[in-house]
Amino acid sequence: MAIDIRKVTVMGAGILGSQIAFQVAYSGFEVTAYDISDAALAGAHHRFAELVATYRDDVPGAAGGKAEQTAAGIVLSADLAVAVKDADLVIEAVPEVLSIKQDTYRRLNEVAPERTIFATNSSTLLPSDMKDFTGRQDKFLALHFSNEIWKRNIAEVMGTSDTDPDVFRAVVDFAGAIGMVPIELHKEKAGYVLNSMLVPFLHSAIALSAGGYADPETVDKTWRIGMGVPLGPFETLDIIGLNTPYNGLANGGEREQKLAAWLKDNYIDKGKLGAESGEGFYRYSGDSV
Ligand code: NAD
Repeated sequence: MAIDIRKVTVMGAGILGSQIAFQVAYSGFEVTAYDISDAALAGAHHRFAELVATYRDDVPGAAGGKAEQTAAGIVLSADLAVAVKDADLVIEAVPEVLSIKQDTYRRLNEVAPERTIFATNSSTLLPSDMKDFTGRQDKFLALHFSNEIWKRNIAEVMGTSDTDPDVFRAVVDFAGAIGMVPIELHKEKAGYVLNSMLVPFLHSAIALSAGGYADPETVDKTWRIGMGVPLGPFETLDIIGLNTPYNGLANGGEREQKLAAWLKDNYIDKGKLGAESGEGFYRYSGDSV
């Protein structure tokens, strides 16, 4: 039987969850955004207001009231049972902490209808690490978005060995229906497709500068001109923000920890956290980020 996805609940309306909720609602689906407290929902409300302005500026067709209607149409709830009672799909975007994710799925399984598909937006954890807590291993998989999903519109779809192929297909179709380019993985891989390539690339760039071989400007110039692409690795790191790569490196082996120390001593401890902070490897004027 074809799987119909119309009603979507997003769990955790933080940075990514709010973007996902907004994009799904913008694409015409019924959306509920769940978060743990009224204070967190107030934060979500604020994020939706910012997204209205961003969509009006960046997304063709969003001006003329559509962005405002999108925000107004999203139902906010801090009551999990109410938020998921009729959901066809729950997209989970709670903090990247395995115990929080596992506990979230345990509670979610108690109140969600049996038919509801669960999808995790986790960047670094594998769905296999959570599947035992979902109570529906065949209806569980990863659906991973990139930050600023309205323009970096890929959605990586990755099941476990237990995911029902029909569920996988329905989620791939759903990703297309919300304006994403679906990226299908045939089996589980930490980092999916994009980060499996991007993270080692960024680490190689950091190693060149931390090792004193070439400064960040030179590394970027080499990559931009040599590959004919618009951004070098350090420009990319500035957009991501330096804390995320720092945390990844600090948890690694000896080589990675040396690179983490270089990032910390030369940039993070000096408040140079990337474009959002006004300075990272480069300086940014207020309106350029
Ligand atoms: P965030 O901290 O901005 O948001 C997390 C939200 O979850 C908060 O609003 C918090 O109140 C809420 N929350 C906390 N505990 C909860 C619970 N038990 N139930 C429901 N909600 C709860 O984090 P984020 O950056 O949006 O990341 C969320 C997920 O998205 C992570 O798995 C992360 O790996 C993934 N992700 C993040 C990015 C990114 O660039 N930030 C990109 C891709 C994927």
